[in-house]
Amino acid sequence: MKRFAKLNMPVTDIKGLKTKKKSFMSLGTILRMLPALPKMPYYARQSAKEYGMRYKSELLQRLFENIIGPDYSATALVFTFATLASGDGGYPEGGSLSMALRMAKKFDILGGKIRYGMRVNTVSVRNGIADGVVVDGELLQSEAVIVTRDTLSAIDDLFDFPIREPWTERMRKVTKPLLNTFICLGIEVDLEGLPEKMGFVPMRPLMCGGKEEQVIKICNYAGYEGYAPKGCTAVTSAIIGDTYDYSKARKEDGTYEIEKEKLAKDFIKILSEKLPQTAEKTAVWDVATPLTYERYLGSFKGSWMTVATKEYKMEYYPSKPENIRNLYFAGQRLRAPGGLPVALDSGRRAVQFLCKDFGMVFGQSEKPPA
Ligand SMILES: Cc1cc2nc3c(=O)[nH]c(=O)nc-3n(C[C@H](O)[C@H](O)[C@H](O)COP(=O)(O)OP(=O)(O)OC[C@H]3O[C@@H](n4cnc5c(N)ncnc54)[C@H](O)[C@@H]3O)c2cc1C
Repeated sequence: MKRFAKLNMPVTDIKGLKTKKKSFMSLGTILRMLPALPKMPYYARQSAKEYGMRYKSELLQRLFENIIGPDYSATALVFTFATLASGDGGYPEGGSLSMALRMAKKFDILGGKIRYGMRVNTVSVRNGIADGVVVDGELLQSEAVIVTRDTLSAIDDLFDFPIREPWTERMRKVTKPLLNTFICLGIEVDLEGLPEKMGFVPMRPLMCGGKEEQVIKICNYAGYEGYAPKGCTAVTSAIIGDTYDYSKARKEDGTYEIEKEKLAKDFIKILSEKLPQTAEKTAVWDVATPLTYERYLGSFKGSWMTVATKEYKMEYYPSKPENIRNLYFAGQRLRAPGGLPVALDSGRRAVQFLCKDFGMVFGQSEKPPA
């Protein structure tokens, strides 16, 4: 764990970039990372579940299987532990909404303009050059387009014709999307004093999306300022699993809302059996299914990361296609397992490619040539 805690995600510049400030890994950082490298193949060869099975205790087996999900390679498990142990596994203050608002504010300060509430129908491509986006039939022209919607769905849905290049075919073929159903409760009881994260085996499994969930994990936000009124607690639970087709079928047969309510009620009951102080105290609940994520994000099956299995061959997909100029891709899908670090780094890379193509200096404020 000590060795892995010294590993860093390299944030470097693309080749041939003009930049105000070069980014590179110092020799010291590389040397600190070296001791972990010989250990990596050992974890990469086994899944988190297989790693858990090396322990005799059933409790530990379940723990290792459920922290990041059973199918991830065990490397992701060790990275998660090491990140937390190093004290660098924090969360954004105020939650994801506050973080997004801070990013929007920064973009605004830099001179960017955000047009909210608009859904791009297609990216306009003329003579092999991206020249804007089409919204409600109107072309909004631009010198370049950076697509930050999930690349896996964008390559099929956001262009007049699907993008077919060797890397897009690979992405379609090998991606194992990570999906969840998210249950949120507002409980009229203060759960301060209980751990922030809890996992337990309920008396009977929770049925979620037609599958049995044997282990329930909850986040207890008691003590988090502003998450719930005084004396109350916000509690969430992410049930990992691909229930997209199940949810879609419920939508089509008209039982989607009933199914969501049943899930929430079953969950509330299971929670009250474990924590009796929560019984009859749930004031509000909400359930987000993969269809909810799909509606908000337009991502493939409503997924938000990629399962980096032991079979997965690590690859950073290109930030730009071969056959369309002035078009760039960024976002979690460009490198498994995705998540915020990849979303940020791939966004940075996309802008670097744009700067290089337009003869601009990265990190310096200037307009691209018309
Ligand atoms: C419960 C949960 C827990 C997570 N925990 C972690 C964690 O601990 N660590 C971590 O690193 N990651 C975590 N993630 C994953 C992380 O949130 C995502 O990987 C990340 O937010 C992806 O960012 P993105 O910018 O690539 O994509 P998105 O956040 O999906 O952004 C794409 C944006 O494009 C917009 N869009 C799509 N189509 C269109 C269109 N046609 N027109 C206009 N706009 C469009 C969408 O509305 C969306 O705002 C978690 C996710 C969930 C759901």
